[in-house]
Amino acid sequence: QTIPAFFDAIAQKQPDHPALVSRHQGRRYSYGELRTASRQLASALLGLGLRKGDRIGIWSHNNAEWVLMQLATAQVGLVLVNINPAYRTAELEYALNKVGCVALVTMPRFKTSDYLGMLRELGPAKLPQLKHTVWIDVAGQGADEPGMQRFSELLARGNPDDPQIDEIAATLAPTDAINIQFTSGTTGFPKGATLTHRNILNNGFFIGEAMKLTAADRLCIPVPLYHCFGMVLGNLACFTHGSTIVYPNDAFDPLTVLETVQAERCTGLHGVPTMFIAELDHPRFKEFDLSTLRTGIMAGSPCPIEVMKRVVRDMHMEEVTIAYGMTETSPVSCQSSTDTPLEKRVATVGLVQPHLEVKIADPETGKPVAPGATGELCTRGYSVMLGYWGDEAKTREAIDAEGWMHTGDLATMDAEGYVNIVGRSKDMVIRGGENIYPREVEEFLYRMPQVQDVQVVGVPDRKYGEELCAWVIVKPGQQLAEEDVRKFCQGQIAHYKVPRYIRFVDAFPMTVTGKIQKFKIRDAMKAELG
Ligand code: ATP
Ligand code: MG
Repeated sequence: QTIPAFFDAIAQKQPDHPALVSRHQGRRYSYGELRTASRQLASALLGLGLRKGDRIGIWSHNNAEWVLMQLATAQVGLVLVNINPAYRTAELEYALNKVGCVALVTMPRFKTSDYLGMLRELGPAKLPQLKHTVWIDVAGQGADEPGMQRFSELLARGNPDDPQIDEIAATLAPTDAINIQFTSGTTGFPKGATLTHRNILNNGFFIGEAMKLTAADRLCIPVPLYHCFGMVLGNLACFTHGSTIVYPNDAFDPLTVLETVQAERCTGLHGVPTMFIAELDHPRFKEFDLSTLRTGIMAGSPCPIEVMKRVVRDMHMEEVTIAYGMTETSPVSCQSSTDTPLEKRVATVGLVQPHLEVKIADPETGKPVAPGATGELCTRGYSVMLGYWGDEAKTREAIDAEGWMHTGDLATMDAEGYVNIVGRSKDMVIRGGENIYPREVEEFLYRMPQVQDVQVVGVPDRKYGEELCAWVIVKPGQQLAEEDVRKFCQGQIAHYKVPRYIRFVDAFPMTVTGKIQKFKIRDAMKAELG
């Protein structure tokens, strides 16, 4: 099926049921209203001269317009290109030109980011293919100038009953490309993964199944929509189950998340581990009634067991699940379900999703390793992207001739099929011939009551090849010295796993999705150590 076919069926079944709450904009849509508005936008986009297969970018924080764009583009076969709102001119120029965007929808400005200003700066000389710029209405912002138009005016020109919409819908195939998502850039330059209806619609559906979503669920998503976490694990998981999606804010802020969960009586909450940590550690955490929470997903980076336990205990999310995946696989390939025993649920990324194959392969031979042994996780099945847009060579490097997507993640699978992510192969540290998985040392250091967050990386060393380095964020009001950390490790973990360098910091270098960029920690240490 295609996304519009699936969405139409649900919207016709429950037109008056709430589909979307955008709290910071004060806007609410029922399924029927969302369907009508997205058809109207689809018609307006056709009115701009856009045609099936054309690329149109969205460069914005979370808002209702984002969802309308997601549904409208899928409706008429346009390819939506998710662009990170943290991108600046050079990155924007690269992304838009790389995929040949003919139109772009953006916010006029956000805090110190002047989006229209950046577009003006690049101009037609640097963005030769871009024909239309549309800015989302925000009171007191924006500019009426040639080549730029308001979202509301564009929308007003569309007709939800435009016969072209259904004519085009009849020609759509589930295997058509409808979305290009850039990877997070955790390990370097983001890559544009091309995804189809079949890829992301199915993935969203099975994610919602694992969470047992129903029309009664109200899912709060503070995670960004431009990333697959918000767009697929949030929007599509909800829409395929007739549930309600709730955006607490345009960009992440722990306090508005807590307020929103209480005010909207949310039953689910998503986040990367750093978001859950920020919510749990918020000084006003105890003031909020979060008892409506039942489920949610923690994903995106390694999910510390201690954090999972606090989410279950203090946020009442007894049915929280962990998901593992990557942009290139739509994204989820493993997820625990609400039925998974708690102990497995907090400690593993669950089982392989239905209709997907996962193998833990020996990186040399590509053959599956024995149960429990570490190897590279490879995924095959409906979720694997068409490829990196305009990059045959990179695509062939990532997806082998048998269709296996090589993730670059090291993992184990036990005899029951539970998968554990050991770390990224790029992050593995080899110190004097010993393989060290930073994840393991991080999990250990999390047990120190003073530690709020910790990251462990390898730094070059003349004697041992690499040495271990820990960056620690101490909980507010707590004291911690290097010596305390070393003492804590003594006799508890092997001597070579005790970090040689320990640094106390206030924050980690992060992508806007909240993913920690270890390569930047390594670079900073290299600069410090010379
Ligand atoms: P880039 O590919 O640009 O360096 P990225 O890999 O972080 O960035 P994404 O596709 O957003 O971009 O993230 C996928 C990666 O996130 C996975 O390959 C894996 O390393 C990590 N990841 C996702 N979920 C989990 C999880 N539950 N536990 C551990 N790691 C995870
Ligand atoms: Mg990646």
